[in-house]
Amino acid sequence: MKAMVLDRPGTPLRLADLPVPQSGVGKILVKVSACGVCRTDLHVVDGELTEPALPIVPGHEVVGRVVAAGADVQRFRIGERVGIPWLGWTCGVCRYCRTERENLCDTPKFTGYQINGGYAEYALADARYCFPIQGDYGDAEAAPLMCAGLIGYRSLALAGKAERLGIYGFGAAAHIVAQVARHRGQQVYAFTRPGDDQAQAFARDLGAVWVGASDQRPPEPLDAAIIFAPVGALVPAALEAVGKGGVVVAGGIHMSDIPSFPYRILWGERVVRSVANLTRRDAEDFLALAPRVPVRTEIQTFPLEHANEALTCLREGRLRGAAVLLPG
Ligand SMILES: [Zn+2]
Ligand SMILES: [Zn+2]
Repeated sequence: MKAMVLDRPGTPLRLADLPVPQSGVGKILVKVSACGVCRTDLHVVDGELTEPALPIVPGHEVVGRVVAAGADVQRFRIGERVGIPWLGWTCGVCRYCRTERENLCDTPKFTGYQINGGYAEYALADARYCFPIQGDYGDAEAAPLMCAGLIGYRSLALAGKAERLGIYGFGAAAHIVAQVARHRGQQVYAFTRPGDDQAQAFARDLGAVWVGASDQRPPEPLDAAIIFAPVGALVPAALEAVGKGGVVVAGGIHMSDIPSFPYRILWGERVVRSVANLTRRDAEDFLALAPRVPVRTEIQTFPLEHANEALTCLREGRLRGAAVLLPG
């Protein structure tokens, strides 16, 4: 099978010809029809996430059809459409797994990081961590739901019942979260890089009530803010934008260092927290909700072989919505 492989962080992915993986106990073999490109993939490729199992096939927003399954797998039929997310395996016995916090498992394995992912024609996955994909989504349109959607949804949940919700960084996750937030009756305040007219227009199209640059203050204090851009300086900026009791959620897996800030901007019971990974419960809840909103994803497709180009577009902020690779 064709696959894009990372041999070493800081180098481009290499187009490789790999054997199709063999299905086994508890596993499903999925013929990939689309795989989204997530910012986390960039952090893996650029070496900001330091524990990849090299060489690795990146990609954890995988949509495809089951073509083979272990004899013990009851969860899926052959031919069924499934999604494979970032959370690929958890231990089930650590104190986090035992308390419904498998997203914090001490010894997890992640798709496209420690388990070969979806930048390939086939992917092998533990059936317990895969999900059926319902709704009238095309395969490529469904791909960004698998991480931008799931992690975005978890971030939104941790932001609480905010009437006024700020979103910093208006990419793949934000464009999904904005739709869910509006559906819940929340007002979205979108912050983009100064001068990023394209992202600001995108946010307006998705119903943001206010759009501005990340160095601007909103016209009124926010109840919560989610930061999707991997920029630590946005933490104090967001703290200054939220009112008393406001929550600032860092939704990314990696962020540049956070500059020091005066205690007065944390005072008033403001909270700063991160979001780590996802639980299977998050996936079930979000994938049931998405078609009801309905969440519509905006995508830019690239042939699988052009994965490096897609990553470059993401790094340079040249995408509207999400990049999706098609194995063709
Ligand atoms: Zn565990
Ligand atoms: Zn992701």
